[in-house]
Amino acid sequence: MLTTSTQQPEAAQARYIVDAGDYHIGLLKAGQTLRILDLQGNQAADTLFFNAADPSEHYSAMDTMREQGNVYLSTGSLLRSNENNVMLEIVADTCGRHDTLGGACATESNSVRYDLEKRCMHACRDSWMLAIAEHPHYGIHKRDISHNINFFMNVPVTEDGGLTFEDGISAPGKYVEMQARMDVIVLLSNCPQLNNPCNGYNPTPVELLIWDNL
Ligand SMILES: [Zn+2]
Repeated sequence: MLTTSTQQPEAAQARYIVDAGDYHIGLLKAGQTLRILDLQGNQAADTLFFNAADPSEHYSAMDTMREQGNVYLSTGSLLRSNENNVMLEIVADTCGRHDTLGGACATESNSVRYDLEKRCMHACRDSWMLAIAEHPHYGIHKRDISHNINFFMNVPVTEDGGLTFEDGISAPGKYVEMQARMDVIVLLSNCPQLNNPCNGYNPTPVELLIWDNL
């Protein structure tokens, strides 16, 4: 559902630009609101959430979809963990669709889907692994890396149950906003994928804005 936010960018407590192919890792405290802003449009932001107190509890696509009875994410979606706890709630969305079925790009899937020569291309999973290696104090390990949300990515389910990566429906200035219900670690890969239309074949930066609503 398309909804706008009343949050003012100039009142944000923190703002980060995440370049195409780069990552962001950081803490979002319970009650804080995170906006992911698609600066130039058609950009996928592959995002994982972890319980800051115990990163073995993480975002779960299955629990989220089962409880809401919908495979797509938008305003009102409760983002649940593998222990079925609500981690965040999407509170505003000017894009209208976010995928949680397609998974993240990896060198292995690039090889299988596109070409063996694509194996050396940078992928979201590489960015996540680099992030947790460069920030070991968050306590996230390789085994904790699980399914994710592809914010702004358009992955419609076909009538016969297949998945297709379609041209994005996002546009410059579209955003999605979520409020944390527990202290979470946000791990976001700004997708570098060049082999399908999820980034319009031209990966671009996103901006993260955080407000303290406590
Ligand atoms: Zn990717």
